Parts: sequence; C-alpha cells; structure tokens
Amino acid sequence: MSFTALHPELGRIDATLTDLGQGLAWESVYRTRPRIGLTCPECGHDVHAKLSPRRTRYFAHDPGRSPQCQLAVESADHHQLKLVLAEAIRRAGWSADLEVPAPDGSWRADVMATSVADGDRVAWEAQLSPITDDDIHMHTDRYADDNIDVCWVSSRDRIPWLCAVPAVAVTPADPPTAAERWMVHDGLVRFDYARGGWVQVDDVPLATVVRWVLGHGLTFHSIGRRYRRIHLPGGNATTRRSASWTTQRSIDTEAKHEAMRQRQEAAKSAREEHARRAEEHRKQVERERQCQEQERRRAEAAERHRLLMIELECQRATREAQCREQERQQQEKARQEELARLERDRQEQAAAHQWWNGVSAAQLTELIDHVAALSMTEHASRALPSPDEGDREHAYGIAVYTGRRLYGVVRPCPQSLGRLHTPTRVFVRNAHEKALITATGLIDADLVTHFDLPDHEQTTLL
Ligand SMILES: [Zn+2]
Repeated sequence: MSFTALHPELGRIDATLTDLGQGLAWESVYRTRPRIGLTCPECGHDVHAKLSPRRTRYFAHDPGRSPQCQLAVESADHHQLKLVLAEAIRRAGWSADLEVPAPDGSWRADVMATSVADGDRVAWEAQLSPITDDDIHMHTDRYADDNIDVCWVSSRDRIPWLCAVPAVAVTPADPPTAAERWMVHDGLVRFDYARGGWVQVDDVPLATVVRWVLGHGLTFHSIGRRYRRIHLPGGNATTRRSASWTTQRSIDTEAKHEAMRQRQEAAKSAREEHARRAEEHRKQVERERQCQEQERRRAEAAERHRLLMIELECQRATREAQCREQERQQQEKARQEELARLERDRQEQAAAHQWWNGVSAAQLTELIDHVAALSMTEHASRALPSPDEGDREHAYGIAVYTGRRLYGVVRPCPQSLGRLHTPTRVFVRNAHEKALITATGLIDADLVTHFDLPDHEQTTLL
C-alpha cells in the first residue's frame, strides 16, 4: 500500500491531501468507472484507490505486483506513522510530501517536510524494520549530501541506532489515527542541573517534537562523555545515551554544569595538591627531625665514649701514680730499713767492740782453753775456733767446732745475741758475763756455760 500514485494526466497525487495535491476530489479516483490508469511511483505497477476500515485513504497494488516494490510491502503500521508525521508537519505550518524520491534515486523520503518560508527540507523516516547502523548512517549521509536534515522515527521497543543518527522512539496512540496523541518516549532529553545529569523526557507528543525540530527548538546533541548515563523518568534507573534531541537551553546547562564540575575538579585537584605538598613538607620536616635526632644521639654516644675514655685514662693514670707512690714508699721503706740495719750493725759493731775491749788476748786464750778442755771431757774432741772469729752470724762471738760440727760460740755480744741460731751453746768467762747474756731474754740459761774466770787480769793487778 502507498499514499502516492501517478495520475496518467496530472502526475503525482497524494491520498493524504484533501485535494490529492492536484485539485482533485478523492471521488474522482476512488471506485470510478471506467478505472483511471493510476500506477505505483516506485515500480510502475497498476494501483487503485482504497479506504481502510478506519477510512484512511491509500493506494493498493493490483494483483500480480512486483515483489521488489518497497511501497507494496510496507505495513499498515508504517503507513499510519507516515500519515501521523505528515499531519504533524502540516500542523507546524510546513508542507509535507509523502514518498518523495531523490532526482537521482539516491533516497526516497517517507515524508518530506518543506519550509514554506525558505524551502528548507527535513526528511522524516518511519523506520519500523531492523536496519544496521552502517545502513542508517549511509542513508542519513545521502540526505546530508543534498543538504537535507533527517529524523528517523520508530515505534519499536528496542532501537539500537537511536543514538547513531537523529531519531526518536514513539508510542502509537489508540486508535492510531489520533495523530495528536502519539507520544515520544525516547530520544528526547533535558539537562537537570540539580541532579547533575540528563533526564529522559517521555511526556511530549510527537506532533510537538516535530514542530520543535522544524522550528530549530531542538538540536541533535552529542552528549558529553561524562554525562552519558541518562536518568529515566520516575525512579533511579538509568540508561546510556551518547546523543539525543534536546533544547539549546539544556545544552547550555550541560556546558555550565561541566564548567562547574571542572572548576570543582580543579579546586579538588588544588586541594589535593596542597594536601600532598603539606604532607610532603611534613614528611620532610619529620625526616630532618629524625636526622637531627640520630645526629644528636650519635653525638651523645660519642661524648659518652669520650668521657668514658677520659675516665678510664684518669683511672689508669691514678693507678700508675698509686703504683709509683707504692713503689716509692717501698723504696723509701727499704731505704729506711737499710739505714736502720746499717745503724743497728754499727751499734752492734760498736757494742761488740766495747764488749771485746774488756777482754785481753790472754783472757780469751784462757777462755778458749777452758772450752777446749770441756769439749774433751764431753766429746773427747778438742773444740777449735773457726778462722772467721767475731763475725756477725755468730753475734760477734767466736765459733768453736769439734771436727766439722759447731760446738758453740764463745762470748757472743749480748746486743747481737738474736743473730745466733737457736739452740746454740754459749761459753762465757764467769757468772757476771752469763748474767749479761741471759738478761737479754734471748737465750735459755742452760745453754750458757761459764768457767768462773776473773773479770779482770789479776796477774796484771798482782
Ligand atoms: Zn509499487
């Protein structure tokens, strides 16, 4: 079925126009006898005027039509949508022509809107059958080549190419002939600044959208990359759209929001940069503080070590001084002892000298003779004086031996008596000398023998 046909004399006629576009009454082509030779503008096959059950006027191919004819196979829905579009265009004050072919056949517009004022053209395509993105792009480009805008319209539920080319999705009215109640449910958005995004508009009649598009109240807009999640009306559901029809005001609002968002991002970046620098500064300060702390601890440890070394050096010096002092004291003591010993020796020698001054050589000989006599009695051996008489070891007395054995000491000096090895027998002249010897308390009286010899040389006195 189609809305246009070729009249054998008048040319193209349009069933949607009251006068068929040629000043003809519908009755002059509908059920006329004889038939007027109407043909299909697409395939040239014979067509005849018909009325649908809803009394829509159209042309139907006669039996035996060409299977390739696009107009012949178009559905009733397709035709209805074309009618609705044509009516909307005409109500907007533009002229609408159906099934308009390009002079070179590169396109055929379902409905071509033409501005009465300046001749601008907008093709409206009712696209109900599936079509690939490539094909719909190709068709759109062909219109563009001829400086014609195009808007694709579909009543299908899912329209994959809705963002690919300028398009809207519509909900048919019930009944479909009520053109003013066809509604656009997809393909139209407005920008909600408060929500910061696009919201789908689904409460605008198709006729209004057609009027806005023709009057440049709507623009097919490529949505900003950050705003492609579109809020669906009533609820939080979203869908993705990369392009849509919208108003210039919404486009400006999107730009304003994007500028605000960029300002906020710039401010946020600035805050983050500031915070990052502050953190970096804080870390730097902390690193420096730690370095200083480590340096301080190293210095402290070095100072402690230095003080310890000084302390140890002091202790060592003190010990050395103590050792030297001790040594000096020992040397002094030894020296004192040596002096004392020498003094004692000197005193002993002086005493011995005096001791022996009281005895003449004759008296000594007399005494030794008595000792020798005594040894003969006791041991049958004559005691003889040693050559080194008067030595210190025998307390400055004269040691006498029987053979190799010490028999005793003759007249040891009382002051040096302590030098004798005890027990050693001692021989003196008389009781007086024995008393002098024993008075020292250094020798047992039993070891002291005297011979009652006179103190003085009586022979001299006599
Ligand atoms: Zn045809």
